[in-house]
Amino acid sequence: MTDSLRFACTGCGKCCTGHHVPLTLSEARQWADAGGQVVVLIEAFVTDGPGMPAEQRDHVLRRSHPVPCGSGEARVSVTFAAFNPGRCRNLDDNDLCTIYEQRPLVCRIYPVEINPHIPLRPESKDCPPEAWQQGPQLIHGTQLLDAGLEALVQASRQADRDDIAAKVAVCQRLGMTTSAVKGNGFTAYLPDMGAFATALSQVAETDGERWTLHVENEALVSDLQAWGMQTTSEPPVYYAFIGF
Ligand code: SF4
Ligand code: SF4
Repeated sequence: MTDSLRFACTGCGKCCTGHHVPLTLSEARQWADAGGQVVVLIEAFVTDGPGMPAEQRDHVLRRSHPVPCGSGEARVSVTFAAFNPGRCRNLDDNDLCTIYEQRPLVCRIYPVEINPHIPLRPESKDCPPEAWQQGPQLIHGTQLLDAGLEALVQASRQADRDDIAAKVAVCQRLGMTTSAVKGNGFTAYLPDMGAFATALSQVAETDGERWTLHVENEALVSDLQAWGMQTTSEPPVYYAFIGF
């Protein structure tokens, strides 16, 4: 980890290819309205139990929502992301963003990390080496030196907290109620975008759907069942299990 980093974007466009871009609720609405596909990524944990990283307790609790699971309660974190398996639909032939002024928050923040527990590591980013050898000093220790960027990071974290109940309600409306366990994987859904847009317009009406945790590790299954959790290891049909 470098204590002090300089950075200036070279405009290479690599971060706009092969990255599912996390979206706030209102950005997901805009993405859907513009004809884009959203991928829904879900992970869950038990408060002070399986899946909860103790050192990130406050952070993960704030951006998760309680749901009934088995005879107990799980907390789920839901990410709505622009589905970009290849080039982003907004990247033009010159590698320029065609919605630059309206691009999502995360696009404005990259390569900075949103999770306060993940240090910024150039080697885990797509930016070429020269991007880290030019421009103003970006970070010192864990302190972001660009006040505008810091405000965007805070806005993104706040949206995570503000949006989570509505995102869970959308998942429940669309029957997306099987989650992976945090640290063990994600469940990933590609909803029909017409149904997704309808669910987004109805999010005020929250259901009390019961959730299930997708786990293939037998020791973790036993641990979760001791907490009263409902688990499944059946081959997924309507979602993908992306295990770690
Ligand atoms: S919206 Fe624009 S900045 Fe964001 S990934 Fe797509 S092309 Fe890149
Ligand atoms: S990968 Fe880095 S340098 Fe390249 S466009 Fe994205 S932010 Fe800029």
